[in-house]
Amino acid sequence: MSAALVTGASRGIGRGIALALARSGFDIVVNYASNAEAAASVAASVREIGTKAAMVRADVARSEDRTRLVEEAYDAFGDIELLVNNAGVAPAVRADILEAGEESFDRLIAINLKGPYFLTQLVANRMIAAGTRGRIVTISSMSAYTASVNRGDYCITKAGLSMLTKLYAARLAEHGITVFEVRPGIIATDMTDGVKEKYDRLIHDDGITPIRRWGTPDDVGRAVVAIATDLLPFSTAQVIDVDGGFHLHTL
Ligand code: NAP
Repeated sequence: MSAALVTGASRGIGRGIALALARSGFDIVVNYASNAEAAASVAASVREIGTKAAMVRADVARSEDRTRLVEEAYDAFGDIELLVNNAGVAPAVRADILEAGEESFDRLIAINLKGPYFLTQLVANRMIAAGTRGRIVTISSMSAYTASVNRGDYCITKAGLSMLTKLYAARLAEHGITVFEVRPGIIATDMTDGVKEKYDRLIHDDGITPIRRWGTPDDVGRAVVAIATDLLPFSTAQVIDVDGGFHLHTL
């Protein structure tokens, strides 16, 4: 049985990934920041599907939490074949880049970029030491390349994750470890709940996505399953857009 460590697996996209992976036979480390009830419900759903689940509360922004997260993950399952860097936050308040403050910038950099960068380092070293030909998937966003001037901090963290993927793909290929970026578009979760009406309009009236519907956490989960189950064996540093075609330019 293979095991996957999914950060931010208590809600939204992380939950969708955890459940899709469980359906493909993976044991799951359900990481969360503070919402123990939601994490317990995901762990229960994983067990209902028929694989094992271990819950670990850890703030990916904190070095000591990342170390404990990895230790507890390996204690639970012996080996980790898949790391999914999913945990991430939006700015508490969207602010124009001519006015936005440093506090939000520092918070987003710590959680969305520094966290996955150093968590990947920890897990990659464990994979190398154990001879595990693992997979690493990072959930970025269409914000990696789309300029939204009212949340520049968020966009910058997501653009940074694209380089994280390239760097680790280049470094880890010789160890048989492949690294992917999954780039969701507009996905229905708590994160997008506050801007639901705006996105409803953009999707259904303006056709901002050629496939005119909201994305679901399961859409993202299935893309991760394709990577996790080795359907892309000769690919690394690859970006997979899960965005209903948002990234298309049409004329
Ligand atoms: P969400 O519904 O707000 O869920 C966020 C998850 O991350 C929760 O499980 C939360 O745990 C966890 N988390 C937050 N801060 C954390 C920290 N410091 N350490 C560990 N876990 C932490 O968000 P989502 O929409 O599913 O987004 C998941 C990822 O997809 C994010 O990286 C986001 O940027 C990206 N994304 C989302 C969309 C979208 O449209 N929703 C689009 C593109 C990319 P608790 O439950 O304990 O709070």
